[in-house]
Amino acid sequence: MPEHSRTHQAELQILGSGGPMHGGGRGSAAYLLRLEGMPPLVVDMGGDTPHALARVGVRPGEVGTLLISHLHPDHVSGFPDYFWGELTAGRSRALQLIAPPAGNGFPDIKTFWQRLFGPDGAYSCMSTLVSNPSFPINFLTAFARDEPVALDEALTVSTHSVEHGQAPTQAFRIDGIGFSIVFAGDQVMRDPAFVRFADGADMMVAHLIANRRIAGKPLADVVALPEDIGRTANLANIQHLVLSHLMEAPSDESGGDLWSLAALEDAVSDIRQHYSNKISVAEDLATFSIGR
Ligand SMILES: [Zn+2]
Repeated sequence: MPEHSRTHQAELQILGSGGPMHGGGRGSAAYLLRLEGMPPLVVDMGGDTPHALARVGVRPGEVGTLLISHLHPDHVSGFPDYFWGELTAGRSRALQLIAPPAGNGFPDIKTFWQRLFGPDGAYSCMSTLVSNPSFPINFLTAFARDEPVALDEALTVSTHSVEHGQAPTQAFRIDGIGFSIVFAGDQVMRDPAFVRFADGADMMVAHLIANRRIAGKPLADVVALPEDIGRTANLANIQHLVLSHLMEAPSDESGGDLWSLAALEDAVSDIRQHYSNKISVAEDLATFSIGR
């Protein structure tokens, strides 16, 4: 029998279930994927992520792979804080850092890293991260291709470009033994190619940023209508849909009524019109086991 015939125990933990508006008190988008016998993976790193990682017991130096969907601040602003902690703790474990290509004024991940931590960067006190890091860093640009990259012999990550306004944005799919999960990222959810990419996954984390009131507004070209999340999850035959990146403005003024938490029941029922498998609404630090 091959050594890897056993099933991975895989668990998703929500590090942050919110977005850039914190009216609901939620942390910005970030997810922890725990896999038996492997260093954990982190998907996105909003500003609250370093604290959330500590709260759920992930120790400095433990994370092996960091996947970044795009470079909007609510997905990457935890970098300086997190890596300052890793430096202070003397991290030695290699880090795999997978992020989208450059485009529309957004840098690639290596340039982003230089701008943060290079000798002329915003945090030049951390410039050993560029000149002489205490741990190997493997920068991997996720181009628009679906071929999987092996993280180890039994685990692959695939990436798929998704539509999210100006920001080059990637969805991720992670396939292990006996489980598969898709992180859909911030996107409009209207792409048949994305349906094929996500096809048959046990779990999909979808970003329910807004409610149906965005229909016909410019925001609907940047984030998904709830009904399109439902259609996509149904067409891709997802077993368990986890709704996250939930947002609430401090008040209904200036468009606050457009966000998901302003009409969460309506948004979930719009999804239900098209999708009949399991739905969970994410909360910070909630855990979900993945797979069969
Ligand atoms: Zn976002």
